[in-house]
Amino acid sequence: MIASILVDVKAKQVDKTFDYLVPHKFENVIEIGQRVKVPFGPRLVMGYIINIKQKSDFDRLRYIKEILDIEPSLTKELLQIGNELSISNTSPLVSIYQVMLPRALKGKYKKLLQVKESSLLPLDLALKFNKNGICDYKEITDYLPEIKKQIKQENIEVIYQVEQYNKERFLKKLTLLHSDVPLRGEKQKLVVEYLKSNPSEYKRNIMHLLGVSHPTIKSLIDKGVIKEDKVEIYREVESMYEANNKRVILNQEQEKVYHTLKNNLNQKETYLLHGVTGSGKTEIYLNIIEDVLKQGKEAIMLVPEISLTPMMVSRFKGRFGDDVALLHSGLSVGEKYDEWRKIRRKEVSVCVGARSAIFAPFENLGVIIIDEEHTESYKQEDNPKYHALDVAKFRSEYYNIPLILGSATPSVDSYYKALNHEYTLLEMKLRANKQTMPATYVEDMRYEFKGGNRSIFSKKLEELILDRLEKKEQIMLLLNRRGHSTFVMCRSCGEVIMCPNCDISLTYHEYDQTLHCHYCGHKEHNPDMCPSCSSPHIRYMGIGTERVEEYIKNTFKDAKVIRMDRDTTTYKNAHEKLLYEFEHEGDILLGTQMIAKGLDFPKVSLVGVLAADMNLNLPDYKAIEKTFQLLTQVSGRAGRHEIVGEVVIQTYNPDHYAILNAKDHDYHTFYETEMKIRKLAGYTPFLNIVQIIITDKEVRNVLNIGQKIKLDLRHQLEDDTLILGPVLPKIARINNIYRAQLIIKYKESKVIDKVLKDIYQKYSDYAIAIDKNPSLL
Ligand SMILES: [Zn+2]
Ligand SMILES: [Zn+2]
Repeated sequence: MIASILVDVKAKQVDKTFDYLVPHKFENVIEIGQRVKVPFGPRLVMGYIINIKQKSDFDRLRYIKEILDIEPSLTKELLQIGNELSISNTSPLVSIYQVMLPRALKGKYKKLLQVKESSLLPLDLALKFNKNGICDYKEITDYLPEIKKQIKQENIEVIYQVEQYNKERFLKKLTLLHSDVPLRGEKQKLVVEYLKSNPSEYKRNIMHLLGVSHPTIKSLIDKGVIKEDKVEIYREVESMYEANNKRVILNQEQEKVYHTLKNNLNQKETYLLHGVTGSGKTEIYLNIIEDVLKQGKEAIMLVPEISLTPMMVSRFKGRFGDDVALLHSGLSVGEKYDEWRKIRRKEVSVCVGARSAIFAPFENLGVIIIDEEHTESYKQEDNPKYHALDVAKFRSEYYNIPLILGSATPSVDSYYKALNHEYTLLEMKLRANKQTMPATYVEDMRYEFKGGNRSIFSKKLEELILDRLEKKEQIMLLLNRRGHSTFVMCRSCGEVIMCPNCDISLTYHEYDQTLHCHYCGHKEHNPDMCPSCSSPHIRYMGIGTERVEEYIKNTFKDAKVIRMDRDTTTYKNAHEKLLYEFEHEGDILLGTQMIAKGLDFPKVSLVGVLAADMNLNLPDYKAIEKTFQLLTQVSGRAGRHEIVGEVVIQTYNPDHYAILNAKDHDYHTFYETEMKIRKLAGYTPFLNIVQIIITDKEVRNVLNIGQKIKLDLRHQLEDDTLILGPVLPKIARINNIYRAQLIIKYKESKVIDKVLKDIYQKYSDYAIAIDKNPSLL
């Protein structure tokens, strides 16, 4: 018996299966989708069984060493998705399979050295080896020349070990066997008495509750009074929020949408649910999932990482209880593994999670929902590049089930598809509880400046903040930039302090009084004088959240402000703790875009956007759309319940359509305007875009290789395809690596996938990244 195996080696040259012999003892257990250990070159690696067959075209095959799964980790459907993705993808197939599995199941490799005769080694090196003659490679990097010599003389051998990251968690459980054995010790009697009323209990609980020690338990076991078993337990994911099972009576609009979906549950169809903020989309999701579960099927609900808020989770836990698994990046490796196994073992029917939850290994799916469908985080930018939407479409087709895309601000690409009947459009124009949309004021900061206001708050916003503090209502302030000062400039010569490794200015952070590069992580002390002209007149320009927090503390002295950005949310469960703190004792929640989505606080009646135009001029063709989405989303946090909400948008571009349409909550006008511009400039949805990034330490090389690739593309692609570049993007150097960019634009192409794969293979000696429909840098 032969197994075709995809090995866990991420090189373009090995991106195919290899045949291995199946040892006789494995013949009855081997299954497609299992993980195995196999020899590959001089070492052992992990691999996935892709096919089982009787014959191979190759002779001299090696044997599979070990089977790592009893149940296959990858289902047949997931294997098929991997294949599908790899057709249009330029990442190694094995990296696609790995992204489908929790980290706990990925191979971990340890490089070890084995010495034959340690007396032949220099003494200090010999001491590094244990009594079995083994030493971790990492320990001896100072001795590399000597090691090399010893390897040549065959006294040292390099060996590799495959390990698994994480293991199941076990607890010891005690069970009463005989209660009538006479006992002398008081403590022993105590344990038996306890176990009479609770026949089985965790050992650690008994020790803790009764204050007994290990020897007491052991002597009871030795006497045969009780027995000890190892039981596997799941790591519980704790939440500060209680499960919330409020049921809402659907209004007319919701009812209509719900019925359309409910009546078409067993049909493949993509729906775009466009509902204003607060229109009650979540309630519809919950009801539909409930209907799907009644049919004995399963459901996946994707939400953006940052809006996987405790409130959302508590509603799912409230409705479906223990039938829900959660998958997001806030979980530890072990917790994620446990949640994943609940799905694989069919112990739950609902999975709520961020991007990679789209690979939840259900085998009887009934619906897939992608909330906030416009969110960029559904696309994985690192290898393997994939979009959760593409995977969702495949699975919807595979199971013949609905795919529901929901958003208050659908991407214009999706809305275009809905208008062209590729998706079915469902709309909800009113807030669920008939609450009006918040009144929005656009404040022109140029005008404020002329009037002598040098503050970071317009008069209007300051006034309204004071009003809310007075009324004990809550405020949310958005500034999409972290740090204290966003650049540091010399007032004498105008020099801006740049990162030594990147073409980007450094950001000052007050908490460690250091300049940070947000691209490569470089840090340096803030200068006493200008590095260029030695002038002492250094000025800190541009505001970040840290500086606003400081400003609020000085201006509104009694207000309790909670700051949420990448710097304050690095510890485990930070989001949840900060949100809980804000809800229960905060006045102002200040944050970057991580506060814009999914939050629902009844007492928030004012939202302020401090610099609405901050991202408008980024070199990204989606910059305007993203600005509109962000403004609409964050505005939607105000006045969702009884209290009427107000929004203040501060800007230097008060007439920009992204800002005006967000102010009026007018998605349709925004869409029309944006589409005209996209059409003129030749962007999606009118033309498809592919970006090729070439990276190298030498700026010459990136441009030369770019030229060669361009020539190849020109020969192979259709004549009406546009190929732009190669050019150096605005930030051409990151971490001392240069980047050049080529852009391909095309309406339709029969050959594009194949051409891109060829390019990827042909230039495999260079670092090139190929990205479809990217955001341009
Ligand atoms: Zn200077
Ligand atoms: Zn840098």
